[in-house]
Amino acid sequence: MSESGIIRREDLYQIWKQKDFRAILPYKEFIFNILIYLDILAEQRRYDTTTGSRLPVDNFFVPCMVTERNKTSFMDKECTPEKAICLAFVFKGTVIPPALPNRLISACLSMWTLKQYEGRKLLFSGFIVVSFDKAHDVVVCVEGNKILLYIVHTSSAGLIVPDVATGVKECLVTTMERISDFYQSTIHEKNIQQLPFQIEYSCSALKCFISEEKALQTNVWVCNEHKLTHRVGDWVVWNQDKNNEQCDQNCQGLSDDALSQRPSDIELLRFSINFESSQMYELVPYLEMSKEWGDITLNYPKDIKVAKFLVLSKWKEMKDKSNFKALAEALTKMDISTHVLCQVRRVRLAETGK
Ligand SMILES: [Zn+2]
Ligand SMILES: [Zn+2]
Repeated sequence: MSESGIIRREDLYQIWKQKDFRAILPYKEFIFNILIYLDILAEQRRYDTTTGSRLPVDNFFVPCMVTERNKTSFMDKECTPEKAICLAFVFKGTVIPPALPNRLISACLSMWTLKQYEGRKLLFSGFIVVSFDKAHDVVVCVEGNKILLYIVHTSSAGLIVPDVATGVKECLVTTMERISDFYQSTIHEKNIQQLPFQIEYSCSALKCFISEEKALQTNVWVCNEHKLTHRVGDWVVWNQDKNNEQCDQNCQGLSDDALSQRPSDIELLRFSINFESSQMYELVPYLEMSKEWGDITLNYPKDIKVAKFLVLSKWKEMKDKSNFKALAEALTKMDISTHVLCQVRRVRLAETGK
């Protein structure tokens, strides 16, 4: 397992049959779900390629058991300055909270598909590559007190869709907030608002870094090592301005084809981020998710952002007709413009443009 990091549910139940674990055996399903909830286990997602619906999960990843280091040529050959952009989550102090990288890797596995490269699955100790879509891969790797995030395009860094970069960044920030919040709530009574890391952008050679705060205030930045010039506009790819997200006057709304599709996780995330928290109570009955919403908000009383996303992803998993049409119908009943869905879909539209 230390090579593949993969285990089956039944294997784990077998392990728990040993004498030392007897006590937990009666609660095996509950404990199993807790391990998933804590991002210690992650489902190996598989989809039916024709219908797009999710297949039953047989295998689970256990990233913290993977000890092998990345020795593939992916970083040298694919993740190059010509094809990739990079940002770093730099942790204050000199160390990253120990279990955080593995839990982040688990979270990536639960959102995206693990990449295969030259016949190998790209999951190693402190290193993972997942496919976002046909054109974009996402690399997360740990280096000292930094977690590096790369977005790699199949042909050129200049073709990276800003919505994808911004969406992946937001997704990882939300996930790390969730994980750090868990750590803090176990250590301190009071919830500390400040995040334990800051974001830094890399130079176009992917080596030098400037803090996000400084980058957004400085007009021109020349990096130390390579003397490359960067301007404020260079960071726009990571920060799509959400205020500009509006349909033009002639927008007809989503096509029937688009309405019949299920939202991807990133689309649900965008939807949940932009949806008024106070209106979730109205939305969930239309999606027949009232009970689940009650359970989830009990689990996340302080974190409505996470609760909103979780209830939607649960909806997508549970309901047969969890497509854009169902969302549009619910919005219409609530007197909310369905054009918010056009914005949610923008990522997909950009993808088909290639
Ligand atoms: Zn540089
Ligand atoms: Zn529209």
